[in-house]
Amino acid sequence: MKIAETVLVINSGSSSLKYQLIEPHNGASLAAGLVEQIGEPMSHIRHMSGGLEVNRELAVEDHTQALRQVLQLFEEVGPKLEEANIVAVGHRVVQGGRHFSSAAIVDDRVRDLIEELSPLAPLHNPPNLKGIDVARELLPDVPHVVVFDTAFFQTLPEEAATYALDAEIAEKYSVRRYGAHGTSHKYVSDKVEEILGTTDIRQVVLHLGNGASASAVTGGVAVDTSMGLTPLEGLVMGTRTGDIDPAAVFHLQRVAGMSVDDVDTLFNKKSGLKGLTGDNDMRAVRARAGSGDKRARLAIDVLLHRLVRYVGAYATQMGGLDVLVFTAGIGENDVQLRRELCERLSIFDIELNETANAMRSKEPRTISTPRSKVRVMVVPTNEELAIAQQAVELIK
Ligand code: AMP
Repeated sequence: MKIAETVLVINSGSSSLKYQLIEPHNGASLAAGLVEQIGEPMSHIRHMSGGLEVNRELAVEDHTQALRQVLQLFEEVGPKLEEANIVAVGHRVVQGGRHFSSAAIVDDRVRDLIEELSPLAPLHNPPNLKGIDVARELLPDVPHVVVFDTAFFQTLPEEAATYALDAEIAEKYSVRRYGAHGTSHKYVSDKVEEILGTTDIRQVVLHLGNGASASAVTGGVAVDTSMGLTPLEGLVMGTRTGDIDPAAVFHLQRVAGMSVDDVDTLFNKKSGLKGLTGDNDMRAVRARAGSGDKRARLAIDVLLHRLVRYVGAYATQMGGLDVLVFTAGIGENDVQLRRELCERLSIFDIELNETANAMRSKEPRTISTPRSKVRVMVVPTNEELAIAQQAVELIK
């Protein structure tokens, strides 16, 4: 079967490689999968295509082997790549620094810039780059496009992007707010503008997944966002603290004898919902709170408190709020969280339509009543599709 134009989207992590074959013009996903535990004695591969799911356990030494395995699965299980009409490979890259305000076609210069930016995203850019290098080697005949998590936030006004830090040090070491999750915030805010038929709206987008971030978007442009130099700043997340007094770092080093790496791991991997409750999965925290677990209830309250702070601040900065948008795992699915947050935002005269709020759907939808002063929407994010669409746009 000959397929319409497709893009292979790759998201390469330190020990994982996720992929999806997408038709960008209609969003159809022809195949998706992931390789996990790369470099460990036993790795796991899952490939899904046309209702089939193939799982394999075998040792996958490195990212080159991982991608070879994936290409072989396409050959064995389908769709066959030579028939898939791949016009580009799209790569997710976390940090584009000040170099990239939009997607870019990979050449040696772009590749090296991504490498240069690695100190700003030591956990993310190096594994992203591995995926790019391997894919360029194994799929040399198609253009490779990089889509940066930070690009959408390059429009942030200087006052929103600047930390009140010694200016020379900040400049020398590139310490400023870059944001993250930009691909999702752009996709979701674009979708809202498309549905409402205007960019003349003040939106707060809440991407609430295992990672979580808020953005303020007005006139189609991002004017503030909660993630900063790295994805650690801002909202309460699955395993990350979000905002915390930086003096907590000094305190823990002095008093608890923790090293820089200890604190890094504590803040990034052992905090947030996980730190507060032991569970990083909101469904589990929600279930525990429902059966009277006080720690779980407190964790949700801390998360809500932080959200109120951001929504209030962003609405004030934009001079008002027209649309509040929920997306990602928690934002799209946690009916109660949306209700609780909107109740806490009563100053905005929000009126939720409870039936619409409780409805499950993969479609973008409005969940407020026509009387509500702020339109509240749920817009499912699709970062892979956004990457595929940006890749195709760029190569044309
Ligand atoms: P993501 O990173 O976007 O995949 O989102 C993952 C988060 O979404 C996890 O914390 C999940 O527990 C949460 N999630 C998924 N479904 C639900 C649900 N029905 N209710 C509450 N949280 C959910």
